[in-house]
Amino acid sequence: MAKLKEKGINPGLAVIIVGDDPASRVYVNNKKKACEYCGIKSEEYALPEGTTQEELLKLIEELNGRDDISGILCQLPVPEHISEEAVINAIDPKKDVDAFHPVNVGKIMVGNYDFVPCTPAGVMELIHESGIDVSGKECVVVGRSNIVGKPQAMLLLHENGTVTICHSRTKDLAEKTKNADILVAAVGKPNFITGDMIKPGAVVIDVGINRMPDKKLCGDVEFETAEKIAGAITPVPGGVGPMTIAMLMKNTVKAAIVNKTK
Ligand code: NDP
Repeated sequence: MAKLKEKGINPGLAVIIVGDDPASRVYVNNKKKACEYCGIKSEEYALPEGTTQEELLKLIEELNGRDDISGILCQLPVPEHISEEAVINAIDPKKDVDAFHPVNVGKIMVGNYDFVPCTPAGVMELIHESGIDVSGKECVVVGRSNIVGKPQAMLLLHENGTVTICHSRTKDLAEKTKNADILVAAVGKPNFITGDMIKPGAVVIDVGINRMPDKKLCGDVEFETAEKIAGAITPVPGGVGPMTIAMLMKNTVKAAIVNKTK
């Protein structure tokens, strides 16, 4: 960070949260803590539940115009009276550290991108750091959301995986998952993928974060049965979650460099 600052590159992240959703509050606090740890300036904009869309878009416009803010994110979900799409579209693509703007989504599709959504980027980092080569592997992604499933599939495809995307209408899911050398679960249902749905020796990456009635966090994969079959597996908590925050820091630094050089 010191070397970047010597070059006049000063990353700054603006985090917007609308309303008082407890899970969103935890995520925002973790992002602020990570910024402090990395020496990145962060500004939090905690707006009341009743904030209008116009007020929110005006704030984003102001932040778009500030040189000392290189990255902007609005914690999702936003309250129902605000259009998520309008918020995503309002953020300057060069400051879009979540990589949700259609310009950045398109860039990911063609394989020429500055930012990758933080969770799929974190999954790829885990795969790389573990020395796993994606090329030629059967990759199955369960979930097709814009923020996890779809970009995840695209990143695996860019690394020459043979990718299958599964969703709620997929027929005989277990038949698909059992074929996976690399299985990514992003469903949002606790313990949904069980050991008998996994190919022996497979790499199993659990993106799910589900809050159980006892307040404990639980993944989409039933860890106890899956770990006996998998060759490698990520836990929840402590697997993809921290990687997501790390990738946000990376994107914020990248945004500062991109904004400085463009
Ligand atoms: P969404 O609810 O947007 O998407 C869930 C996906 O799962 C959908 O595509 C849905 O299919 C699919 N699905 C639902 N039921 C089934 C089923 N029975 N069989 C197969 N597929 C099914 O969730 P997100 O992608 O936003 O998040 C997924 C999980 O990841 C959540 O637990 C979330 O909390 C967690 N998450 C974790 C992050 C982290 O940092 N670790 C970051 C972001 C999310 P369909 O499209 O047909 O409805």
